[in-house]
Amino acid sequence: PSKSDNQLILMHEFAADMYHHILLNTEEGQAALDYLENRGFTREMIERYRIGWSLPEWNYMATALQRKGYSEEELMNSGLAIQREQGNGFFDRFRGRVMFPIMNESGKVIAFSGRILENTKTEAKYMNSPESPIFQKSQVLYNVHQARSAIRKNRKIILFEGFMDVIAAGKAGVDNALATMGTSLTPQHIRAMKRFAQEIVICFDGDDAGWEAAKRAAIALNEDKFKVEVAVLPGKMDPDDYVREHGQDAFREQVIGKPHAFIAFAMMHARRHKNFQYENDLLQYVQEVLQLLAGRSSPIERDLYIKQLANETKLSEEAILQQYRKLENRSIEQSRPERVAKTVKREPKRIT
Ligand code: ATP
Ligand code: MN
Ligand code: MN
Ligand code: MN
Repeated sequence: PSKSDNQLILMHEFAADMYHHILLNTEEGQAALDYLENRGFTREMIERYRIGWSLPEWNYMATALQRKGYSEEELMNSGLAIQREQGNGFFDRFRGRVMFPIMNESGKVIAFSGRILENTKTEAKYMNSPESPIFQKSQVLYNVHQARSAIRKNRKIILFEGFMDVIAAGKAGVDNALATMGTSLTPQHIRAMKRFAQEIVICFDGDDAGWEAAKRAAIALNEDKFKVEVAVLPGKMDPDDYVREHGQDAFREQVIGKPHAFIAFAMMHARRHKNFQYENDLLQYVQEVLQLLAGRSSPIERDLYIKQLANETKLSEEAILQQYRKLENRSIEQSRPERVAKTVKREPKRIT
């Protein structure tokens, strides 16, 4: 890291310590401490993740940083302060929020996410630091520095949607946990994770947004040769809700311990919101699943899932297999256009 990167990191480390101190040791931090306690945070968790509280005042952190000798320009560059639109001066980006430091792979603070205490319609629930030379959302994964050794040991990553879920998982003893910073999974994230493990369990929220994001992530990770499994939550719960409602053991054993294979999950995804009494739903389902199987499955997987399809839809295995063959031929042609063309030139297609 360059000298100016180091400077930015020092500012964030200073801010993290100050937010943390305010949360734990001042009267002003009490409401936030109560909030966290209500959500099941223990003192130990607050310390482990260095959680803090930003005072609601306009200039508290900016002033503190200036007193440490940082210039106005450095304040703006750090993202901790924002320039006023009118007149001069600046104000704190994070005010009246529970502060979650985001650390780099060495465990140094490079950004924050701040949560309001009460959900409102007007204010964003979470506010993140802006992009900076030390913080690129498309690359950073929450908890890498703490999860790395557990990932290596388990040879497996558990990927969550939000850092609250990572923290809940940690409470339940699931330490190989990572999350993106609220963005969808990028090729950079995938590359970063590939350095640690070849296997991954996706455990996203049980709402529609979570299911869609899990499907997209599963496809991307599968294409990048991860062994992908998906742990599914009942209803619209997220992992954090689940731990609080059903407990740590159930989360570890019933959710994380019983993930679905990639294709099985994709079938569940395709079945969602479909009613097989409607012909269209049923046909669309079969088509979706066969497309998924075409090209990317082993003969055994194919047999397994085609049997399952037949069972679910009451169609004959034979008909499903025929349809599958049609799709498979098409997908082979599509994936290898040149080779197919060359083959055709050299030896005319034989009818068998
Ligand atoms: P909580 O339990 O506190 O509501 P959550 O983790 O369940 O938090 P989700 O709404 O499921 O929150 O969102 C998942 C992730 O998406 C969050 O961790 C955060 O990174 C990101 N996110 C959600 N809402 C916002 C927002 N308004 N601004 C920026 N990021 C957000
Ligand atoms: Mn969500
Ligand atoms: Mn959630
Ligand atoms: Mn949640």
